[in-house]
Amino acid sequence: LKAMDLSLGKIEIKIREKTLTKDPVIIAGPCSVEDAATMRRIASSLKDLGVDVLRGGAYKPRTSPYDFQGLKEDGLEILREIRAEFDLPIATEILDPRHLEKALDVVDIIQIGSRNMYNYTLLEEAGRTGKPIILKRGFSATVKEWVSAAEYILNTGNEQVILCERGIRTFETTTRNTLDLNSVAFLKERCRLPVLVDPSHGTGVRSLVKPMGAAGILAGAAGLIIEAHTEPDKACSDARQTIDMKTLEEIMNLTKQLWRLT
Ligand code: PEP
Ligand code: MN
Repeated sequence: LKAMDLSLGKIEIKIREKTLTKDPVIIAGPCSVEDAATMRRIASSLKDLGVDVLRGGAYKPRTSPYDFQGLKEDGLEILREIRAEFDLPIATEILDPRHLEKALDVVDIIQIGSRNMYNYTLLEEAGRTGKPIILKRGFSATVKEWVSAAEYILNTGNEQVILCERGIRTFETTTRNTLDLNSVAFLKERCRLPVLVDPSHGTGVRSLVKPMGAAGILAGAAGLIIEAHTEPDKACSDARQTIDMKTLEEIMNLTKQLWRLT
């Protein structure tokens, strides 16, 4: 695998002036893109905190088809306004190659969700855009399957692949998922690609996001992707794992301190 051949050197991915693995990168925002006024309040807070990238899903892959499915194209329009108004790069999930064209001029980083890690056509189409891609780990994927999925993107000639550990399904049901920090330490040692940790989906529990985000940084993550909202209890999806801006600020400060130890 090209991704595991360290003789080729680590892959450097820039997000504005930061380089992944050299500087800790924080991606934060609501689970779903919400109405424009709410998004403006959130973006303004994120900007003040110095968050690097705003996340938010316009297309939402919900387990139940009866749950909120995202604002879709209207959500992309809101992201377009926010991106221009606040000068924040945008990471958003693409569920289907047919959405790529519509999303391309709004999205700075394409997110491939856990449920789509095995969707090789989508991976290739996303790869061909040449944009950086966050590839979330399938919730029952082995590390090898996950890296092999990344290889589909690398094979399009696009090397800007950012892995994201978001927790896996185990026998343990106390938390939503089990954040596999072994994978993070392992990949830092053996893989050319940077790895982010998502302690929001990794735990599913608001109060656990800070400790597990910190643990992710110590395990070798290049940064964190976190669900945050100005009014977490009112979030349209994943409210229980969504943190407020004060907690996000604490996590960012903690990350800076811990980064010096890694
Ligand atoms: C998300 O980031 O909102 C998301 C749906 O994550 P995952 O694909 O990891 O479940
Ligand atoms: Mn979510």
